[in-house]
Amino acid sequence: MPNTAAKLYKNRTITYLILAGTGVLFAVGAAGWMRYEAARQLNASDSLIQHLQDVTSILRRESQRIDRIGSAIELYQVERDNDKFRTAQTSSVALYSDALSLQQQVRDDAVQLRYAQQLASQANALVSSVNALTPSSPAPTAQLLACRETVTLMLKTQQQLLHKAVTQFSNIGVRSMALTVGFTVFAVIVVLVLFGILIRDAYFRQHNQRQLAETNQLLATTIRTLQRRAHESELLTLSRDELQLCMKPEQVRQSTACSLQKLLPGTTGSICEISRSRQWVEVQARWNGASTLPDNFPLESCCGLRSGHERWRKPGQSEVHCSHFTSTAPDNYVCLPMIAHGDTLGMVYVECPSAGIAAMVEEQVAALHDMVEMASMTIANLNLRNDLEQQSIRDGLTGLFNRRFMEVALDRELSRAHRHEKQLALLMVDLDHFKEINDALGHEAGDGVLRQAAQIMNRLVRSDDIICRYGGEEFVVILPEISLENACARAERIRSAMSDIQLHFGEEELRKVTISIGVALYPQHGTTAEQLLRASDRALYAAKNQGRNRVVVDSQTAVV
Ligand code: GH3
Ligand code: MG
Ligand code: MG
Repeated sequence: MPNTAAKLYKNRTITYLILAGTGVLFAVGAAGWMRYEAARQLNASDSLIQHLQDVTSILRRESQRIDRIGSAIELYQVERDNDKFRTAQTSSVALYSDALSLQQQVRDDAVQLRYAQQLASQANALVSSVNALTPSSPAPTAQLLACRETVTLMLKTQQQLLHKAVTQFSNIGVRSMALTVGFTVFAVIVVLVLFGILIRDAYFRQHNQRQLAETNQLLATTIRTLQRRAHESELLTLSRDELQLCMKPEQVRQSTACSLQKLLPGTTGSICEISRSRQWVEVQARWNGASTLPDNFPLESCCGLRSGHERWRKPGQSEVHCSHFTSTAPDNYVCLPMIAHGDTLGMVYVECPSAGIAAMVEEQVAALHDMVEMASMTIANLNLRNDLEQQSIRDGLTGLFNRRFMEVALDRELSRAHRHEKQLALLMVDLDHFKEINDALGHEAGDGVLRQAAQIMNRLVRSDDIICRYGGEEFVVILPEISLENACARAERIRSAMSDIQLHFGEEELRKVTISIGVALYPQHGTTAEQLLRASDRALYAAKNQGRNRVVVDSQTAVV
């Protein structure tokens, strides 16, 4: 748009320049022509005046000549001087001759031409009278008077013509001056208008260039923002894909740390988890080397976790520091709580080594939020799935595997034992006279005994062994890859460890907790889960019958 406007102004300026140039050329040309015309008229006027002055001089000379003819005639008649007579004769002839030439001189004026013709005829009459003159004859006074009168009239008319010519001459000068001034003023106005237009166009062009520069800057910023958004979007997609592959919260934290390292180059940071006790925050993952955070720190030392939302510490924005630093707190950092389903799981700490990097992080804060939210949701979902899984395979009271899991696990372990041709022992454990404990101390105390018994068994088995609560106060222990002898020894250790459980009724110490254990061995006492369970139950029954608090191996060998 500004480009089009600039083009428009450029075209208009060229048009104005052509118009103004034409105007100035016209004004100068017209002024020159006027000056030329005025000069020509002045020249013509000047010639006319000169001519009129010449005619006037002739008329004055003719007037003097008439006077001379008169005086020569008088002197001739008085003194009878023939020279005077000749003078009168030649002068009258000269008068006649001048009168004839005057006709030529004044032919452009009808009045003067008529007077000149009249003078010529009067002079002719005078010549005749003078030629016929004798000393005694009457002087030609009437002819002289007529000639004088005509010359006087011609002089008067000539004076009027001269006055008119002088006035015309002066008018031409004034008009020429007025036109010159007029055209000069016109040319100056045209030039001024042209300059005004050029200045206005220059101003508009400058304004447009400024606008163009601003638009270009805006465009560059928009392109940068779009490129950044595209990069963020690509990172978010990659991060989402990665998170979908994670099976454990630790993997989520590691993957998120890698993504944040790419999203926020130049920063260091940590991903922290709130402990189960909700007293401590533990650093689980870091990016770009060590940060100033300790491995764990109290929950209340983080302002972001206390406020429950993103919290920046920057000079001029907030001067309050968190107190979770191993050394001096950095100048620029942000603490962003990880919240999912309304539960705060931990926080992301981002440390910015300079104000410039802090500004860059602030620009990307939306993507940072998205990434942290994605990680929080994934961790929460994994935790939830884990909890649900645990609930479906674990017994709520003791935390041991439940019967359903035991059945699956036993099948799996039997297949493995079959494949590797190994033995497998199954212990059926039952608390002796448990009903009495319940009756004597109450159901809750009974629950406590069940929990303690589970802990003891957990402590005494190998990591690959599987302990399940089979039902009520009965437990099944699967011992893969074990001999009968070792299985019995382990069962014995469990049995004797049960005496660690102390039962009190007020101050009074009650009897020790005892258990009976029935042992069955794969493949000796059975090859299927059902056979082995039945065999171990049989052995347990035998142990009860034999007086309880003992380990008994099934006596029947399985028929294969
Ligand atoms: P024996 O030595 O013959 O096994 O005697 P016993 O009393 O242990 O056996 P019995 O089958 O008569 O009683 C089992 C008792 O276990 C009955 C039941 O109230 C109790 N019991 C079963 N499940 C739970 C439980 O989850 N919590 C508590 N406190 N008691 C339970
Ligand atoms: Mg019992
Ligand atoms: Mg029982």
